[in-house]
Amino acid sequence: MTRKALTATTILIIGLAASICSGEAKPAQVDDAALRNAASAPDEWITIGRDYAETRFSPLRQINSSNVARLGLAWSYDPGSLRGLEATPLVANGVLYATSDWSNVFALDARTGRELWRWDAKADRIRGYRACCDVVNRGVALYKGKVYVGVIDGRLAALDAATGTLRWEVQTTPVDEPYTITGAPRVVDGKVIIGNGGSELGVRGFVSAYDAETGKLIWRFYTVPGDPAKGFENEDMRKAAETWTGEWWKNGGGGGTAWDSFAYDPDAKLLYVGTGNGSAWDRSLRSPGGGDNLYLSSIVALHVETGRVAWYYQTTPGDQWDYTAVQQMTLADLQIGGRTRKVIMQAPKNGFFYVLDRLTGELLSAEPYAKVTWAKGVDLKTGRPIETRQARYGDKAVMLSPGPGGAHNWHPMSFNPNTGLVYIPAIESSFTYVRERDFRRVPGFWNMGIDLAARGNSAQYPALPESEYEPGTGPEVGAASSLLAWDPVAAKPRWRIKHEATGGGTLTTAGNLVFQGLSDGRFVAYTADTGAKLWEVQLGNGIMAAPGTYFLDGKQYVSVLVGWGGASGLYAPNPTQQYKAPGRLFTFVLDGEAKLEPVRGIERPPLTPIEYNSTPAEVERGATIFGRRCSMCHGIAAVSGGAIADLRYALPATYDSFDQIVRQGAYQALGMPKFDFLSEADVAAVKSYLLFRRKELMDGAR
Ligand code: CA
Repeated sequence: MTRKALTATTILIIGLAASICSGEAKPAQVDDAALRNAASAPDEWITIGRDYAETRFSPLRQINSSNVARLGLAWSYDPGSLRGLEATPLVANGVLYATSDWSNVFALDARTGRELWRWDAKADRIRGYRACCDVVNRGVALYKGKVYVGVIDGRLAALDAATGTLRWEVQTTPVDEPYTITGAPRVVDGKVIIGNGGSELGVRGFVSAYDAETGKLIWRFYTVPGDPAKGFENEDMRKAAETWTGEWWKNGGGGGTAWDSFAYDPDAKLLYVGTGNGSAWDRSLRSPGGGDNLYLSSIVALHVETGRVAWYYQTTPGDQWDYTAVQQMTLADLQIGGRTRKVIMQAPKNGFFYVLDRLTGELLSAEPYAKVTWAKGVDLKTGRPIETRQARYGDKAVMLSPGPGGAHNWHPMSFNPNTGLVYIPAIESSFTYVRERDFRRVPGFWNMGIDLAARGNSAQYPALPESEYEPGTGPEVGAASSLLAWDPVAAKPRWRIKHEATGGGTLTTAGNLVFQGLSDGRFVAYTADTGAKLWEVQLGNGIMAAPGTYFLDGKQYVSVLVGWGGASGLYAPNPTQQYKAPGRLFTFVLDGEAKLEPVRGIERPPLTPIEYNSTPAEVERGATIFGRRCSMCHGIAAVSGGAIADLRYALPATYDSFDQIVRQGAYQALGMPKFDFLSEADVAAVKSYLLFRRKELMDGAR
């Protein structure tokens, strides 16, 4: 017997022994039939959106609007994370599977939270900077005894579901380019579907389909065309290239990364892919003669066998605002205009809620679900947005809504067929867009071509006069978050709960409930029909992830991952005021009696004065460099989101070694990149700025 065969046999025996000892029948397989029927199998949660339609609706009703106030803690689990947590747990055969930061995977007994195994992805820490929006991961896929996870460094790994041992892994992206993976894989038609991210840094987006059993690549769909001199991969790319101008393939790869959402219609055999923004953001820097730039910011329906385009709908033609269409897509059969329409629904970043025929791509409705000032509406005949005259910003700073965070981001929405409502974690926001003066691409670093540091710096970037804005769409500053119940048939809101904090992903159930966690640490249940608040609990750390629910041994459980981070979790302060607070998985049950201890962070280090001599001009120069190069991880104006070091609190020794750390890469193993393209004087200016901010803090500023 070979060593390999022996190992396999040993695993089989251990597996059998485990089944016999616990007196269980052989576990049911998560296979094509199970995935196809997931919507009508309430007890488990076997694919990330709960079903191929990505409804995040559970038919369970043991926990319902009349008894949800009795929810108590069943158990909690510490996954050993200090960063953002975004996954929804999967549950099959009494085992709960989820991911934590750095793409690590864990499996727990779903009754007790007892750890069965953990898999450390051993991701290269330097990928932390390549990830625009924290080292997060949105979950796993299950299929025929394996657990699939996309790793932040571009690997796709298949683990043994029983033991967590690696069965195979493939590098899905070129290792020398700044691709990352944060999205959950899906398994459709025996294939593992995985996308990637990296448009902010400069990559060419694509989606891959691997054989679920062997890890062999079956097809790859590029979301944007490559260098025509090398020949187009297929007709879809040749057609897309007609919508690009200049030498786009040289200017950041085009972008269009599909970093989060997929949906699948097994009858039509169509896989729906949501694609991302352009790279660079400013269209003039990637496609100087204009153009729609297909397939950026689009819903693309692919034939699942071939990965070729069946139809596409571009939500934001010629995107230059980071208005990705990567946001969740949900399939439903709705009564529209007196007949049943098979639809796909999306609330992408651009602020319009779209309902399309999912077989043909025909636009059925597109109405704003948040404040929108980049477009006046969507023309139903042409399917195109009617842009406002200020929308295409240039050298003058233009304030637009939504901002690049979107009116809705990756935070999952849910659709309840009983109420007919979609529950959207919606955001009102605005942002100053302006082309970055003296922009030069630095491969492997952030290359949006807009200046993140421009806000309030009117000397360098004069603001577009208010009179230049389209009437009624002026430059107002505002930010608000809400739980929005949207009626996709009437194409209008039914109710809205305004939040002080930012809302996480949602779960809805047949118990007439909607669950949502908030950035201020609260986990809340509302009635699904009216939005009445019924229950809430304080969990101590910010919540972004969507909850899940399952039923085991006569009890319904609701489970949610708590852990602040993600894009805003890095650059904006933690609303719970926690610093370096750990993540945790909390699972609730009716009359649960486990002791609930909210998550706690650490005390910030004490501040001691550090002398510095620098001119206001030097500090201002440091502020600009910090804004462009450092703020996305270390926080706007050097106020940390809490997950990554707040540099104002850095120890004197850190300031003494500042150049070694920043320019010479002393902390690369911790994920701090080597900024060797900055000059010694640039880095000294950043240090001056930080010491200035430290002094401001000691003098009583925030
Ligand atoms: Ca983006």
